[in-house]
Amino acid sequence: MKDRVKDLIDKLNREHSLAREEFVYLIENQSEEAQTYAADLAAKTTLEIYGDKVYVRGLIEFTNYCKNNCFYCGIRAGNTGVSRYRLTADEICECADEGYELGFRTFVLQGGEDPYYTDDIICHIISEIKRRHQDCAITLSIGEKSKDSYKAYRDAGADRYLLRHETATVEHYNRLHPDNISAEHRYQCLRDLKELGYQTGAGFMVGSPFQTSENLADDLLFIKDLEPAMVGIGPFIPAAGTPFANEKPGTLEQTLYLLSLIRLLLPEVLLPATTALGTIHPLGRELGLEAGANVLMPNLSPKAVRDKYKLYDNKICTGEEAAECVNCLENRVKSVGRRIVVDRGDNIAFCD
Ligand code: SAH
Repeated sequence: MKDRVKDLIDKLNREHSLAREEFVYLIENQSEEAQTYAADLAAKTTLEIYGDKVYVRGLIEFTNYCKNNCFYCGIRAGNTGVSRYRLTADEICECADEGYELGFRTFVLQGGEDPYYTDDIICHIISEIKRRHQDCAITLSIGEKSKDSYKAYRDAGADRYLLRHETATVEHYNRLHPDNISAEHRYQCLRDLKELGYQTGAGFMVGSPFQTSENLADDLLFIKDLEPAMVGIGPFIPAAGTPFANEKPGTLEQTLYLLSLIRLLLPEVLLPATTALGTIHPLGRELGLEAGANVLMPNLSPKAVRDKYKLYDNKICTGEEAAECVNCLENRVKSVGRRIVVDRGDNIAFCD
């Protein structure tokens, strides 16, 4: 490892920030040693703040209808190869009931941007899950909405919101999305969500088409500036039926390195080892936990619809029952000396 790389990782560990050109240097000079060095410091930071605990979120993918046409996404409106489904409010609540029995205390409602689910329906689902399980947190991941809608969901009981910024560079954003959606609007949504008191999650794909080291450095600076409670990153993986079907996927190594840099940048952040990371490598999620991640998001969607929510190809865990996923994950987490806890798993800045 180059001296300057080690110095910069040490500086990031001490000061929790770096200049743009320093991030660019770190990203361009990644090596196996640099990755291990950053991962060790990140793991130490995670241990100091969250101990050996790993928080789990029950992911309920309730609709794969989407009005948008993001070039990378497998459930984009224009992908005619997708068999579309919607879960009813009752089905969604049943997933949460089953998840509660399995020890989940956070439910993530994720979907395409599907106008079928009006604000009233979303609010009804939130308040019904909250009524049944008062000790649980609800996270929404349903894309860009008006501030009024975000407020209505918050008033109904939603605690958190995941909205990856995807890339902090407007020109890069425009190469990943059609003209009718804008980077500025997405960034504004993130600021609105924070203002409304949500534990907010930003994030990006690693290795998305056209991405440069400068883009990634700007993603890190964006995250530092926004200070989200959660950051979701995972490798880009090509999806059949999309304009990016034949592009190269992001790598395990770069994703792990960025997870570690993010942990050092925002020590208290909640950082998932994502399903996409587990998809590009059989031990991706375990390695993610060892590189600074402290959250896992297994699937609670009914088995019958699992394989239809394909943001990308070869997605793992589409054939298992939720209970099987939990057992499998428990073993995986144990194998890296950590433990899954039955807990809402709030960001410590939001704990009373
Ligand atoms: N419609 C919601 C949820 C999007 S799906 C929203 O707009 O936020 C959640 C995330 O999956 C996206 O934010 C994106 O970063 C990621 N994703 C989509 N397609 C992907 C692909 N092909 N490879 C890897 N990640 C992908």
